[in-house]
Amino acid sequence: MFALVDGNKIYMSCERVFRPSLNGRPVIVLSNNDGCAIARSNEAKDLGIKMGAPWFQIRHLEVTADLVALSANFPLYGDMSDRMMSLAAALGPTQEIYSIDECFIGLQGVRDVTLRAWAIRSRILQWIGIPCGIGIAPTKTLAKLANHIAKTAERKPGSYPAELAQVCNLAELSSSQLQSLLERAPVTDVWGIGPRLGAQLIELGIGNVQALRGLDPATARRRWSITLERTVRELQGYSCIEMEHGPVPKQMIACTRSFGQVSQSPFSSGTTVRLSCLSGARLGSGRCISFSTGTSSQFCVIMV
Ligand SMILES: [Mg+2]
Repeated sequence: MFALVDGNKIYMSCERVFRPSLNGRPVIVLSNNDGCAIARSNEAKDLGIKMGAPWFQIRHLEVTADLVALSANFPLYGDMSDRMMSLAAALGPTQEIYSIDECFIGLQGVRDVTLRAWAIRSRILQWIGIPCGIGIAPTKTLAKLANHIAKTAERKPGSYPAELAQVCNLAELSSSQLQSLLERAPVTDVWGIGPRLGAQLIELGIGNVQALRGLDPATARRRWSITLERTVRELQGYSCIEMEHGPVPKQMIACTRSFGQVSQSPFSSGTTVRLSCLSGARLGSGRCISFSTGTSSQFCVIMV
């Protein structure tokens, strides 16, 4: 059995611990150099602010919609994350820290798992101030899904049964309850199913998790990949992904830059750009995710 403990909107939660006046207000956290939005409160999402939106394009909302924009404080988020992880570790004998706000817990030999999960959740909230969702299931893929259900049931009442909000243990459901729950869950909510693969599956009539679970694993492997076969088996309850205990290697570093003057450069979203400083030294290259040559010349580049 596995649990996935996931802090809700961790950057936002960390900021709100120290500034409770931000609760209920539209708030965003900006990337290095205040280039673009990298975290949004629900209220900011409701204003239509997209992830990665350049600050200069949404700045007017400070006046018109009471938007609060904060410069990122990564040392603070890292410190709060360490504290959250150390409390989450008490849930079971093994822990895999998966990202700044998520960790898997191995639950071998743990009794009264759901009760313990509720206790750990309230301890993290009381001691650190970060609300968490906890998903519990026989495999890591199902635990990820359970966590997603726990958070969605809380955020969007009516989407899933209310009793699954915050802590969702799929192992406690009867097979018919589990089946009707997985029929409600879109296939794109499964760990590892991206938009492109999701679109292919939906086109073939595999639109929900229950349908994907019913797919023949050999067909999944032949038609798509061994990765999808593993996902199907994990959804069927056969654990294929073990706990990893080493540090996860960095796959990508996000870095943003902005020019001091208006640039007339013709590149647009999706263009690969190379960054150099005035002396000609190369800073790196990456994919431009937003650019405007209008009133400002800021853009955001994901360095890979
Ligand atoms: Mg999270």
